[in-house]
Amino acid sequence: MERTLSIIKPDATRRSITGKINSMIEEAGLCIIAQKRILLSELEAEEFYGVHKERPFFRDLVKFITSGPVVVQVLEAENAISLYRKTMGATNPKEAEVGTIREAHAESIEANSVHGSDSAENAIKEINFFFEEKEIVG
Ligand code: GDP
Repeated sequence: MERTLSIIKPDATRRSITGKINSMIEEAGLCIIAQKRILLSELEAEEFYGVHKERPFFRDLVKFITSGPVVVQVLEAENAISLYRKTMGATNPKEAEVGTIREAHAESIEANSVHGSDSAENAIKEINFFFEEKEIVG
């Protein structure tokens, strides 16, 4: 079994589609083993997205991710990391496959509704960023 970190982003919480996204996650065979709704501070967002700090859209990304509540989650499945990336669809919703979360719900390349860890190493880092082990019930 593998774990990955998911974030339901502010564009989705604002439109009250957390439940719809969770249905797509569960239908894909991913089990939601931890979940909480939080508001990220600017400092937390800068740290979380630290790998992107040289990219031109970094300030916009920090502004967006702190613009409203997010739902952070730990998902578990066999090959959870790649399974969730496939379930999310491409970063740009215009390029996302039909049936993916971003194709169905994302507003733009920035407001693209969900985040999912992109490697085993980052999944562990990102899960530890938001959760204590006792909050995760597999
Ligand atoms: P992901 O792994 O599919 O989420 O994509 P990346 O790691 O490349 O980018 C992280 C996040 O930054 C994306 O999910 C978007 O919210 C945002 N992002 C990516 N590319 C762009 C862009 O060209 N412009 C803006 N404004 N945001 C972007």
